[in-house]
Amino acid sequence: MPSLSKPHLTLAKMLKRLPVTLAPVLAYALALALTTTSNSIFAIENLRTTAEQSGYQKTGRYEEVETLCRNFQKNYPKTVRCQEIGRTAEGRPMMAIIATRTNIFVPYLAKDKQVPVTLIQGGIHAGEIDGKDAGFLALKEALDNTAAKNALDKQVLIFVPVFNVDGHERFAKWNRPNQRGPEEMGWRTTAQNFNLNRDYVKADTPEMQAMLRLINQWDPLTVVDLHVTDGAKFEHDISIQIEPSHAGDNILRQSGKTFQQNVIADLAAQGSLPLPFYMAFEKEDDPMSGFVDGVPAPRLSHGYFQLRNRFGILVETHSWKDYPTRVKITRNTIISVLDQVAKNGADWRKQSLEADMRSANLAGQTIPLTYKTTDQFQMIDFRGYAYTRKLSDISGALMTRYDENKPQIWKVKLRNEVVPDTMVNLPKGGYLIPAAYAKFVVEKLRVHGIQFESQNTALNDVTVERFNTSSATISPDSFESHQTLKLQGNWVAAQHNFVKGALFIPAAQPKAALVAAMFEPASPDSLVSWGYFNNNFEKKEFMEAYVAEDVAREQLAADPALKQAFEKSLKEDKNFAKSPEARLEFFARRHSSWDQEYQQYPVYRTDMVLK
Ligand SMILES: [Zn+2]
Repeated sequence: MPSLSKPHLTLAKMLKRLPVTLAPVLAYALALALTTTSNSIFAIENLRTTAEQSGYQKTGRYEEVETLCRNFQKNYPKTVRCQEIGRTAEGRPMMAIIATRTNIFVPYLAKDKQVPVTLIQGGIHAGEIDGKDAGFLALKEALDNTAAKNALDKQVLIFVPVFNVDGHERFAKWNRPNQRGPEEMGWRTTAQNFNLNRDYVKADTPEMQAMLRLINQWDPLTVVDLHVTDGAKFEHDISIQIEPSHAGDNILRQSGKTFQQNVIADLAAQGSLPLPFYMAFEKEDDPMSGFVDGVPAPRLSHGYFQLRNRFGILVETHSWKDYPTRVKITRNTIISVLDQVAKNGADWRKQSLEADMRSANLAGQTIPLTYKTTDQFQMIDFRGYAYTRKLSDISGALMTRYDENKPQIWKVKLRNEVVPDTMVNLPKGGYLIPAAYAKFVVEKLRVHGIQFESQNTALNDVTVERFNTSSATISPDSFESHQTLKLQGNWVAAQHNFVKGALFIPAAQPKAALVAAMFEPASPDSLVSWGYFNNNFEKKEFMEAYVAEDVAREQLAADPALKQAFEKSLKEDKNFAKSPEARLEFFARRHSSWDQEYQQYPVYRTDMVLK
C-alpha cells in the first residue's frame, strides 16, 4: 500500500540526518504518534479467527489469541488495549483485551467515573471454546458499531478469550466426546489437572489467582462465563443463569431477574430457544424426571460473584448443536449483555455499591449460607425429541436413545422454588485466625480482596466462640486434590489466648457473605470443608491400652455416675459395646492427658472489633 510506505520512507530519510542517539527516540515517538492519531492507516492487520476463515469448522491455537490481541490494539488504538494478566502453570501468558470508547483503560478511572465494567470470559473449560471465537466476533462488531451500538460508550469491556490456556493447548479431536465441533479443541482442566470452575473460593491455581487479581482491580459489575453443556439431546440451544436472582442481596436479585429475562428475550427474538435453568435431568438419563433449578455453590463462577454483590452469568450452549450455530448464539448473548449493561449498567452499578453498604452492615445478623429447592413444581413444555429407554446388553442398565429427527414436547416437572437452607449468625465482630495459620489464610484473603487486621500483640483471655465439633468426617476420595472434610457441631462461648500475629477478619465489610462462605464450617466452600485444616482432625497422641485399662478402673472406682454412664452406653449402644477402641476412649477422654485441641477447628468468632 503506497499510503503506508510513504511516511516510513520520509521518516527513514529524516532519521538519517539526526544525531545517532536521538534517532531511536524520535522514531518511537513518531511511530507512536502515527498509531494513536489514525485508526485507518494501520488497518491492515488480520482480525479474523481460524474459526471464521474455516466457516466455524475449526478453532485456532492459542498463538492466534496472542496475535489477535495485539492486532485489535493496532487496529483500534484509541479504543483497545491488549494486556497480559498473568501466567499459567506452564508459563503461558493469559491475555485480556480491554475495549471501550470511554477512554478508561485503568481501573481507578472506571471507579472514579462510575462506569460499569463487563468481563466476558471464554474457555474456563477449554474444550468448550465457543466463547473465544464468539467473543472475537462480538468484539469486532461492537468496535465497528455494527452491533451493540454505542454500548462501548457506556462501559469497559474486558474480554479474556481463554481462561484455561494450558488446557486449550492440550489440543486434540475427541476431547469433548459429547459435542459437535470444532474439529479439534482443548481440554477441560489445567496443566495441573484442576477444574477452574471449582476454584473460585479456594483459588489454588495460578490461573484463578491471576483472574481474581484482575477482578479485584477492575471490580466488574458483570462476569459472563461461557460454557458448552453436556447431557441429553433436545431442541433448546442455550441456558442463561444469573445470580443474584435466587440468592444474594434482595434488591440486586430483582435486577438480576430483569437482566436474565432481557437477555433471554433478546435471544428468543433471534430464533433461539433459551431457558433460565441448567438443562440436566433431576435423575441422570431420565427425561421424565424433569429439572431442578437452584443456587450454585461459591466454587462456581455464578455462585461466587453473588457473594461479592456482582452479577455472575453462566451461559451454556447445547453441545449437540453444531459449532457455527453455537458460536452464533454465544455471540448473540455477548451482544445482548453489552446492550443490557449499556442501557441499565449505571443503575445496576449503583445498586451493587448500595448492596455493598448493606453487606457491610450485616455483622451480628442472620444470613443464608446455603440454599435448597423445595418440592413445589410447575409443569413445563420442554422441547425434546422422541426417545426410547431400553435395557442395554452392553451396560446392563436402562439406556435412553434420542431421535433428533422427531421433535417432541415433554411435559415435565420444573422445581424452581429456591429457599434458604442453612442460616448462620454472622459474628458482631468477626473471625479470629491464630498466628500459626495466618500466613496461608492471608494469601487466601488477599486473593479475594477481603479486609483483615494483623494483631501486633498477644491477645489474652479473649471472649470468643469456638466450634464444638460433634462429628468430623474426612472424605476417603480426593476431590480437586483435596480430602474434603464434613464438619458438624455448633459455636459455643469460650475464652481463648492468641499469640502475637493472629488475624482479625471483620464481619462488617462489603464481602461479608464471602467471608462467611470461607470460614463457616457449614459452607461447602469453606477452607475447613476443602480440607485445609485436616491436620487438626487427626489424632496425634494416644494412651496405650494397658495404661487406659488402669485409668478406666481408677475412674470407675472414683465416680459412680461415670460408672453408670459407661454401663448405659454398653447396654444401649451396640457399636460402642463392640469397639474396644471406643470403650477405652470413653475413659481416655476424661483423663487429663486427653488432647483438648483434638478436632478443634482453629478459627474463632468474636463480638469484639479488633484493629
Ligand atoms: Zn463447562
